[in-house]
Amino acid sequence: MHIFYHPDYDIPVPSTHRFVGPKFSDLYNHLQTQPFASKLKVGQPTPAPIERIIRAHTSSYVKKVSQDTLSKADLRLINLPWSERLRNRSFLAIEGTYLTAIQALQSGIACHVGGGTHHAHRDHGLGFCVFNDLGYTAKNLIAEGHVEKVLILDLDVHQGDGTIDICQGDPYIFTCSIHSESNFPFEKKQGWMDIGLPAGTKDQAYLEILSQTLDSIQSSLTPDLILFDAGIDVYTNDGLGNLELSIEGIRKRDQLVFQHFRGRGIPVATVIGGGYSQDRQELASRHSLIFESAINYL
Ligand SMILES: [Zn+2]
Repeated sequence: MHIFYHPDYDIPVPSTHRFVGPKFSDLYNHLQTQPFASKLKVGQPTPAPIERIIRAHTSSYVKKVSQDTLSKADLRLINLPWSERLRNRSFLAIEGTYLTAIQALQSGIACHVGGGTHHAHRDHGLGFCVFNDLGYTAKNLIAEGHVEKVLILDLDVHQGDGTIDICQGDPYIFTCSIHSESNFPFEKKQGWMDIGLPAGTKDQAYLEILSQTLDSIQSSLTPDLILFDAGIDVYTNDGLGNLELSIEGIRKRDQLVFQHFRGRGIPVATVIGGGYSQDRQELASRHSLIFESAINYL
C-alpha cells in the first residue's frame, strides 16, 4: 500500500502544548514496525506551488504565510507557535494529501501520514491548521481534470468548518461531516451534509448513523474520489473530543467506509486527523488504525 510522508512534517511546539508536535514522525516510526513495514511503499511530497494553493486560499493569505507576515490575530487563530519549520511543512503537507489522492485514483486506496487540516479557511488559518489540504486537493484535482466530483468525508470529532468555507458554492465538491455538536467550532457551518452528534455518543449509535449516512450519500451521489479525514479524536479518552468511541469502534468505522466506497468501486484517499493525548505512543498507535484497516482491506 502507498503512503505519503515527509520527515519535516513535525511541528515544533513546547511539550506543554495541546498539539502533539512530533506526532507525524511518531506515527511514521510506528509504521516502520511490523505488521506495517513490509506492506508499505512510501512517497514523499515536494512543497505545493503557490499558483495551485490559491485555488483554495486567497493570494493575500498565501502571501502572508510564505513571507512570514501573519499578524498576531492571524497567529492567535492558528494557535501554534510560528516557525520556519511550521511554514515549510504547511506547503509540504497539503501536497502530501494531493499525491495520496492521485495515488488512490490509481490503486484504489492510499493513506497520508499527515493532512486533515480542516479548520483552515480560505483567507485565514484556524485551530492548528495553516493551509487546508482537503480543499487544496479537491480543487486542484478538479481543475486539472483528474476527477469530476469529490466527496470529502470528514469523521474528525470537530466539524471541518474551513473545508466547508473553501468548498462552499463549488458544484463539484461535496462535504459530509459527522461530528460532535458541542465540540469546537462552536458555530457550525452548513456544508452539503452535516450530522451533529450529542456528546457521549458511543460505538453502536455512531456506527448506525454512519451506515445510514453512507446509504443516504449513495442515493444522491457517485463521486470519483473520497477524501476521508479519519480523525481519531472521536476516541473516548481523547484529550479534546467528547464522543465515546472505543478503539474497536474506530476500527469498525474505518472498515465500514472502505467496504462501502470500495464496494462501489470508488477510490479512497485517507488523511489523519485530530488526536490529542499526553501519551505519544498511544497516539501513534491510534493514528495507525486507519493504516491497519486500509492494509486489511487491500
Ligand atoms: Zn479534530
